[in-house]
Amino acid sequence: MKTNVQQVDCNEPQEDVIAQAAAILQEGGLVAFPTETVYGLGGNGLDAAACKKIYEAKGRPSDNPLILHISHRNELERIVSNVPEAAKKIMDAFWPGPITLIFPKADCVPMETTGGLDTVAVRFPAHKVAQALIRRSGLPIAAPSANSSGKPSPTRASHVEYDLGGKIAMILDGGSCEVGLESTILDVSVKQPILLRPGAITKEMIEKVIGPIAVDAAVLEKPQEGVAPKAPGMKYTHYSPKAEVILVAGNTLEAQTQEICRLVEEQLALGKKVGILATEQTKDAYPKGIVLSVGDRQKLETIGANLFKVLRKFDFLGVNIIFSEVFDTTGEGMAIMNRLNKAAGYHIVKV
Ligand code: AMP
Ligand code: MG
Repeated sequence: MKTNVQQVDCNEPQEDVIAQAAAILQEGGLVAFPTETVYGLGGNGLDAAACKKIYEAKGRPSDNPLILHISHRNELERIVSNVPEAAKKIMDAFWPGPITLIFPKADCVPMETTGGLDTVAVRFPAHKVAQALIRRSGLPIAAPSANSSGKPSPTRASHVEYDLGGKIAMILDGGSCEVGLESTILDVSVKQPILLRPGAITKEMIEKVIGPIAVDAAVLEKPQEGVAPKAPGMKYTHYSPKAEVILVAGNTLEAQTQEICRLVEEQLALGKKVGILATEQTKDAYPKGIVLSVGDRQKLETIGANLFKVLRKFDFLGVNIIFSEVFDTTGEGMAIMNRLNKAAGYHIVKV
């Protein structure tokens, strides 16, 4: 299949381009499109056959459910069977935006979409291209991240093309994604809401609106053998570049950088090509290895926006091993450490 890559204006999406993409979705085909979080791989979320195509294109395990994307709150009624009070408050505060809510599902949502669960994940994205596409298609669009399963999520159209070129009908190229990390996922289908995946809408921001919430154990710790995380996707290896990733933690930033320098020397002596995931504050502290700054520690949103791009860049540069600094888990730091832990398979060295 030839993949048609089309530029699209993020402020005023061209009607003819959106119409072409919407027609593909209505006919059961797949279109990758930009959102404020990462690029999504869209298909008709009410069509079991279209959802199967999504799993195939990504190589995604079929028990890892898809998120349905809507372009107005009144589209919820069709796909969920109940809207809890906590959900209403969260939607008032953060929709449209980078937070997904888990609801009990309506009958019309196929089990292929929800990976066999009786709940459904729903998000109303803020990105104008995503909104225009959903509106024009008249469908709830199932859209997981538009990467090959296990790879870092795509934050640019070129990332999607690299992973899925030749496998999908169309890619809408709207430049880079502002947030750069997948949406926060909050389960509101249970009595006490649970954070299943951290994102740019932080635990602290949610708690200001609905009070204390629980955090699923799989968010920051390795899921234990035999204990299934509540978001099935969290049990899989994720966000992994080809190179091995090792996180280096220390009491101070200086201790971290010193230990990384020592580990880099060790690997260089073995003839390895070494990458260092550094920050604006530390990038000049590493005399050897391939140093990429992921952003500014004082502005965690810059780190979120660049993290997946930097992991993909290390692959492109052909490094064998990556040493990464770590971050506090407050605010957006929780989402950053969740993704880094998974990229590293929870391999962390403590000084
Ligand atoms: P992605 O769209 O690639 O960011 O992946 C969607 C994430 O949402 C995965 O981690 C899924 O496991 C999670 N998810 C989707 N639907 C549900 C659901 N009904 N219950 C719990 N987690 C879900
Ligand atoms: Mg994904």
